[in-house]
Amino acid sequence: VAVVFYMTPSYKNKRFIFQFIGIVAAVIISIVDDIVPKELFRSYYELIMEYKPKFVFTNILITLCTILYTSYFYEMELDMVRKELDYNCTHDTLTGLYNRRFLYDILKKGDNEEVVVAILDIDNFKKINDRFGHDIGDTILISVSDCLGTGDKAYFPVRWGGEEFVIYCTKTDVSNAYEHVSSVCSSISEQVILPDGSPVTVTAGLVDGTKNEFENAIKKADEYLYMGKQNGKNCIVWRENESRYI
Ligand code: GH3
Ligand code: MG
Ligand code: MG
Repeated sequence: VAVVFYMTPSYKNKRFIFQFIGIVAAVIISIVDDIVPKELFRSYYELIMEYKPKFVFTNILITLCTILYTSYFYEMELDMVRKELDYNCTHDTLTGLYNRRFLYDILKKGDNEEVVVAILDIDNFKKINDRFGHDIGDTILISVSDCLGTGDKAYFPVRWGGEEFVIYCTKTDVSNAYEHVSSVCSSISEQVILPDGSPVTVTAGLVDGTKNEFENAIKKADEYLYMGKQNGKNCIVWRENESRYI
């Protein structure tokens, strides 16, 4: 019983209470001979022996209950750690957005489903870091990610890496996705403001494709993004030679 108590997991930091009980139980069990007077022990011995089966039964019952109770706490802790791990594996630490791994997990069940992919890249972010410092840069990343939404059934915002974000769109067509990305880009330039009062802008590339050819779609979206950067930034490129300024 003492050992089982000592092994209790750290569910909600209550481990020390159980360990304390375990230690006290171990100490009492080991010195029980010394604390109970010998005469008392002898006089009650025969009386106790009569009830030995009941004592043994109660002992087993207590041990079993303790093991069950401990297993329950292990289960709770495992569940908590599993959820934490799942979250950390699929979310970006800084912004709380989904990360690349999450998107690749979705894509594993690849089929011919039509999807739209948009890559958004913050304009001149290196200069923002250089002028205002890395911490402000991080704050800007968080504010931009707030404008991307939390991800509903049709539009999943993902931190692709650095200052690049992907909006993975399902159950929609390219013009609806364009409207969505366009409103996201507008809200970024309206809501994310630098300490000197100037707005933060993004450039985006947007293409449609299929789920099982996601890599091609993202490559194409990247090419469009590059075109947008070449054409003066702060725009969405969504077809060859078709771009709109935000
Ligand atoms: P462009 O308009 O062409 O996109 O230029 P840019 O400066 O935005 O792009 P560039 O690739 O030259 O610089 C990206 C910068 O983003 C460089 C890197 O230090 C910074 N960066 C990447 N990840 C983070 C981050 O997590 N926090 C901060 N503060 N900066 C980051
Ligand atoms: Mg970039
Ligand atoms: Mg950039």
